[in-house]
Amino acid sequence: MIVGITGGIGSGKTTVLKMFQKFGIDCYIADVEAKFIMNSSVIVKTKIIASFGEESYIDGALNRRYLASQVFANEKKLELLNSIVHPEVAKHFDEFVKHSNSEYIIYESAILFESKTFKKCDFIITVTAPIDIRIERILKRDNTTKIDVLNRMKNQISDEKKIEKSDFVIQNIDLIETEKNVEEIHTKLLSFL
Ligand code: ATP
Repeated sequence: MIVGITGGIGSGKTTVLKMFQKFGIDCYIADVEAKFIMNSSVIVKTKIIASFGEESYIDGALNRRYLASQVFANEKKLELLNSIVHPEVAKHFDEFVKHSNSEYIIYESAILFESKTFKKCDFIITVTAPIDIRIERILKRDNTTKIDVLNRMKNQISDEKKIEKSDFVIQNIDLIETEKNVEEIHTKLLSFL
């Protein structure tokens, strides 16, 4: 059983995922694994360099700033990058699933719907929080600006649309409440096995 976790930037997807991890659930963070694959897969590296140029890597390490500037506000280029990376992440995740003994598996992605990975999920959880709180969290966590956060938010589909397609919604404001919610969802998910 695969359970997808999604939500906007700064909603608390990874925070929620860690709570599921405490119950011994195997968790896959698509963004982290995608970065790992872009840095390590020869096939992916070769394709990225062929499509975006040698500047895509500095001393073998992904030049994220350059690549982000290439795909930002350019839908065609973003699609091209996704068409290189997503299939490799999908294969990598399938292997992860094969080797897991977990009661179910959590797959976390901010772009669960956009990447179509939601189709692999038996259940979907959307994590939400008010926009001003999300901005505050990101500014505290990352070395970034409010404009950059707002731009990234603009590129994500709305919470309303995500919630429509979800089985569970976690409003992540108070961490104690969120933990209670996670425990309830975990119990429910176990009952579906
Ligand atoms: P991103 O989309 O950028 O990967 P995310 O949705 O995974 O973000 P987290 O990384 O879990 O979000 O949370 C963003 C920041 O907010 C982190 O520093 C986290 O510790 C903090 N945070 C998350 N939930 C809460 C909460 N309920 N109360 C206070 N701080 C929180």
